[in-house]
Amino acid sequence: MADHGVGRVLACRGHWIGGKVAEPDSGDYFFTSNPVDDSPISKIARGNAVDVDRAVSAADEAAKSTRLSVRERESVLTSAAALLERDCEAFVDLLIEEIGSPVGKARFEIQMAVDALRAAAGAARRGGGQTFPSDAPDRFSLSLRQPAGVVASITPFNVPLLIGVKASSMALAAGNAVVALPSEDAPLITLRLAELYAEAGLPAGLFNVVTGSGAEIGDSLTQDRRVRAVLFTGSSAVGKHIGALCGAQLKPAILELGGKSPLVVLEDADLDQAVAGAVFGIFLYQGQVCMGSSRIFVEDGLYDRFAAAFAAAASTLPCGNLRSPDTLVGPIINPRQRARVRSHIEGAVAKGARVLAGGGWDGNVCQPTVLEGVEPDMAVFDEETFGPVAQLYRIGSLDEAISLANASRYGLSAAIYTRDIAQALRFAHDVRSGMVHINAPTVHDEPHVPFGGVGDSGMGRTGTEESLAALTQLKWVTAQM
Ligand code: NAD
Repeated sequence: MADHGVGRVLACRGHWIGGKVAEPDSGDYFFTSNPVDDSPISKIARGNAVDVDRAVSAADEAAKSTRLSVRERESVLTSAAALLERDCEAFVDLLIEEIGSPVGKARFEIQMAVDALRAAAGAARRGGGQTFPSDAPDRFSLSLRQPAGVVASITPFNVPLLIGVKASSMALAAGNAVVALPSEDAPLITLRLAELYAEAGLPAGLFNVVTGSGAEIGDSLTQDRRVRAVLFTGSSAVGKHIGALCGAQLKPAILELGGKSPLVVLEDADLDQAVAGAVFGIFLYQGQVCMGSSRIFVEDGLYDRFAAAFAAAASTLPCGNLRSPDTLVGPIINPRQRARVRSHIEGAVAKGARVLAGGGWDGNVCQPTVLEGVEPDMAVFDEETFGPVAQLYRIGSLDEAISLANASRYGLSAAIYTRDIAQALRFAHDVRSGMVHINAPTVHDEPHVPFGGVGDSGMGRTGTEESLAALTQLKWVTAQM
């Protein structure tokens, strides 16, 4: 029998507050489970408002008393990158066991997290202000860029290491302290990251982790007046709630939310390249990727060949064995998400959508699914499925593709495959999306680029420059000589 990575019971863990493990105030714990078979893998502290207060107090105290030089911040982040490389295999195991990552996605995520730590280390030295000419004679005029203070980092289950690292490393590079609230489906990875930062030399209190149910304790964190900025990555519904709470306090919130990303294939495209881009774009990590290309628009002249090749590729994708480097598709994270994926497929089929590939399940693994004939009255049409489900549309022109792509309330990433650069650039210009890729999949990220979406896909951008700006305050200072 294949080794699916099941059966290793992981630790019992408390919060991480002020540089050490902290037992939950309530004494309560909850179990996390392996998505392959729902067997329990760890017992995790169930936080309450008292725990959040302890973590924010520790962060606030550290932000005020621990003034790391930029050289020290650079050194900690560089060491953390080296330690993550050293501990790569342990993180691979965690990503497989805690969130059902195929091994290839786990390695990809770890490498991106290493890159993000190095980029943040370099950004620590770029946090300066400006000088300005002054209208007043003999007056120096300049700006100082100062840390925001305590930053809340709230992360989703799907790329918990990469997003946990992106948010925290840039906050630390800018001189802040962090309170992290990880997804209840992925707490171990963030707790392990806390130990890694500590080993890299980060002083106690600058990175804290409170675990538990976000719905129960999230508001205590985001509404705490000592928290000066919130970095949230997750669903649009929770993001809107957090945005409203932060807005009421005039607190900056960067919101990286869901998507329903369009991929357009024009008839002059390289068919093999387009099919490979679509397969990677929607089936990587069983479609649990915010940038997943769930809506695929193919021009009439290429449609039949594309549909046949894409459906054939989907039907033969290696699924299930998470330890095999060929596997792209593993289990859906939890029962709530499985019910959502199931209802999107079954609801569409009941209303007349046709299944070109997949549609069934092997345990908790949803087969890579390709649907045709998806109409606006079906939930899957514009709701984020967050599973391995692609919907195909035949289009008559680029204009039609742009108009259908823009009909979504989301706008995270978009892609087009064509040999005609003028058409590609027109698409890039006119599509309503935070990110666009030409002849490449919708799924792509690098540490220094402006990453983010429009509409229900979010507000604000992350990336070394953008995060530095968002996680600091500019102060204007003048001096009369
Ligand atoms: P989720 O919104 O259910 O949870 C995200 C986080 O929010 C978790 O840590 C949860 O504990 C916390 N939370 C829940 N209620 C809260 C509250 N009231 N206050 C504060 N925090 C609260 O999302 P998920 O299911 O973990 O992740 C999947 C979603 O994340 C998808 O919609 C996906 O598109 C999105 N996502 C977006 C990006 C991006 O960069 N745009 C990246 C990855 C995932």
